[in-house]
Amino acid sequence: MSKWLYAIVAVIVIAAITFAVYYLSFSKPAEKVLRVGTSPDFPPFEFINESNGEIVGIDIDLIKAIANKLGYKVQIVSMDFDGLIPALEQGQVDVVISGMTITEERAKRVDFSIPYWKADQAIIVVKGSSYRPSSIEDLAGHAVGVQSGTTAEELLDEYVSKGLSINVKKYSSYTLAVQDLLNGRVDAVVVDSPVAKALAKKYNVEVTATIQTGEEYGIAVKKGNKDLLDQINKALNEILNSSEWDAIVSKYTG
Ligand code: GLN
Repeated sequence: MSKWLYAIVAVIVIAAITFAVYYLSFSKPAEKVLRVGTSPDFPPFEFINESNGEIVGIDIDLIKAIANKLGYKVQIVSMDFDGLIPALEQGQVDVVISGMTITEERAKRVDFSIPYWKADQAIIVVKGSSYRPSSIEDLAGHAVGVQSGTTAEELLDEYVSKGLSINVKKYSSYTLAVQDLLNGRVDAVVVDSPVAKALAKKYNVEVTATIQTGEEYGIAVKKGNKDLLDQINKALNEILNSSEWDAIVSKYTG
């Protein structure tokens, strides 16, 4: 009798322990991960810290602050700028933050947050160059670098289609465009004004012109992902009105 009792108790105890272990392992809340697409060639917004290879910048700190408020861990997914919207559409990333201008064309494919930055376009040349373009028209007859898929590319293409003879060279990243500028393979690069300013601090280049385009940067989510967009807008609005934002901006522009 007692032998059977021991056996039954043993089975119950083992079953209870097994159940408890399984229950605990499955009920542990999985850490929510926000997959963030970015093209890290755009200082001060996203760039690679050369001393440790880490992707850093205003956009990176901003999306981390937003994710922190929403209870997400951030996973940065690095890719070329022109691959960012397709990656959102295909569900490879949850958000895109990459100094991306809110445009009507793009807003047909993705949804944008409230704006968080204003920018224009700028022309940069090698520092001290005798060629000093002060307008897009001045780029006629010259090789000019841009990053594919950007508003700068669009701007130059527009002038070319109207008959201005700019030799537009398209690069997969602004890093490569600037390298070719420094190597003398292009005479100028057109890039967003805040980035031009940062590049002039980092490389032997200077700004010769600003073209007023009145662009605004937004964070993009997959078309129709209203739930995530609402959460992002709420967190973004709070951060933009806090001292945390000033601290992030001055960390990278100060
Ligand atoms: N703001 C520009 C655009 O949206 C450039 C962005 C970038 O090169 N990262 O096209």
